[in-house]
Amino acid sequence: AKQRGRNRYSFYTSEMQALSLRQLTLENALRRAIDAGQLQLYYQPQQDLHSGALVGAEALLRWEHPVMGRISPSEFIPIAEDSGLILPIGEMVLRQAARQIRDWLDAGIAPPRIAINLSAIQFHQPDLPQTILSILDEYDVPSSRLELELTESMTMEDPEQAASMIHRLHEAGVSLTIDDFGTGYSSMSKLKHFRISKLKIDKSFVRDIVNNTDDRVIVGTVVSLAHSLGLRCVAEGVETHAQKQMLHTLGCDHIQGFHFGRPMSAARTGDFLRRQDSP
Ligand code: C2E
Ligand code: CA
Ligand code: CA
Ligand code: CA
Repeated sequence: AKQRGRNRYSFYTSEMQALSLRQLTLENALRRAIDAGQLQLYYQPQQDLHSGALVGAEALLRWEHPVMGRISPSEFIPIAEDSGLILPIGEMVLRQAARQIRDWLDAGIAPPRIAINLSAIQFHQPDLPQTILSILDEYDVPSSRLELELTESMTMEDPEQAASMIHRLHEAGVSLTIDDFGTGYSSMSKLKHFRISKLKIDKSFVRDIVNNTDDRVIVGTVVSLAHSLGLRCVAEGVETHAQKQMLHTLGCDHIQGFHFGRPMSAARTGDFLRRQDSP
């Protein structure tokens, strides 16, 4: 048994070494990826359930490495956060989105809003509002065109500080959404002090919404909570017509997911936006 225990131990360490080797490889590759233009934003459209209109799109980062291929943001964002690379990457994301919104405005096809995911590390930079405003200014994009997605945990760590940052971003004219709502432990009493405009229901509650009563009750409760605070509600991960119907019945305002549209390259998003405009 002792022998087996030792083997098992060495098995785990070699597995851990392989894992950290991959992390190290990715971190070095990521450093180069920024300048090499390997990081591109994709856009996933959002639909208003009442009118059927396109109301916005979420920008989602894609990394195409010439040798390793496509690497998921769920893998490389945490590495970027641990290594500090998230700050230059986050700025690159804001700049790429602003430039894209400018192009779409010039072409007359810009969606009302583009949502950007913020990392906690970005959210803790005191100069974030200035950074955002100067990038928007650089491309002459109105701040009302930009939405920022924060997670619950970012607001709960230090609610006072979060409230002050959210207030400054709100003053700057950008709108704010709490992402993955329901997966953390938001304090309902704190929520009403934040100048946010939307709650985004996590896709884990949407997946079984048609068959699972608990999930349906949770989503219904979040919708009521949002509306009672004067907020909109958007559901992510909507893949089927039945899920969309159920969300409509529950009073949800907007949906995002494969049913309305997958995340698409900027060029394909442009085509999608043109099709939305011409009936
Ligand atoms: P998230 O913000 O919760 O993004 C939603 C995820 O759900 C995206 O995964 C999206 O592609 C996926 N998705 C969209 N529709 C559906 C659907 O109908 N069904 C299912 N099953 N999934 C759907 P993705 O693109 O792999 O991104 C993963 C996470 O990486 C994001 O989760 C976000 O936390 C992070 N991320 C992505 N881009 C950025 C970025 O520019 N900055 C930061 N800080 N994080 C980012
Ligand atoms: Ca998001
Ligand atoms: Ca989300
Ligand atoms: Ca999520």
